[in-house]
Amino acid sequence: MSECIFCRIVAGTIPSKIVYADDQAVAFEDINPQAPVHVLVIPRKHVSSLGEVAEGDQALLGHLMRTCLKIAQDKGIGASGYRIVTNAGRDGGQTVFHVHLHLLGGRALSWPPG
Ligand code: 5GP
Ligand code: ZN
Repeated sequence: MSECIFCRIVAGTIPSKIVYADDQAVAFEDINPQAPVHVLVIPRKHVSSLGEVAEGDQALLGHLMRTCLKIAQDKGIGASGYRIVTNAGRDGGQTVFHVHLHLLGGRALSWPPG
């Protein structure tokens, strides 16, 4: 069994509130939400960080982004606006080493991030 928390969520061995899933991607509610809408969109396959994304994964990255847009519509924040963030590496604030996009919205988000 994988040590990766998000691989376990994909496998269903760690419970999560899944909001969307298809053959390439899984999306679920963040356990520690930073906004009224805070969904994590991840690839089913394990890729540890943005820096590890291979050239052949370009379409997959696009699919993850499109999935965020679809969820934003489904969550009713398509018009009010939202932010899609990916944290990469130590200084980027990455804590889970399985690539993920954060979809945040439902309130006015400040800028710049800390
Ligand atoms: P990062 O800091 O790597 O960009 O984001 C990791 C995110 O995963 C955090 O927002 C954190 O709250 C979330 N997270 C960590 N462990 C779990 C978990 O077991 N379940 C869910 N749903 N979210 C998690
Ligand atoms: Zn993983």
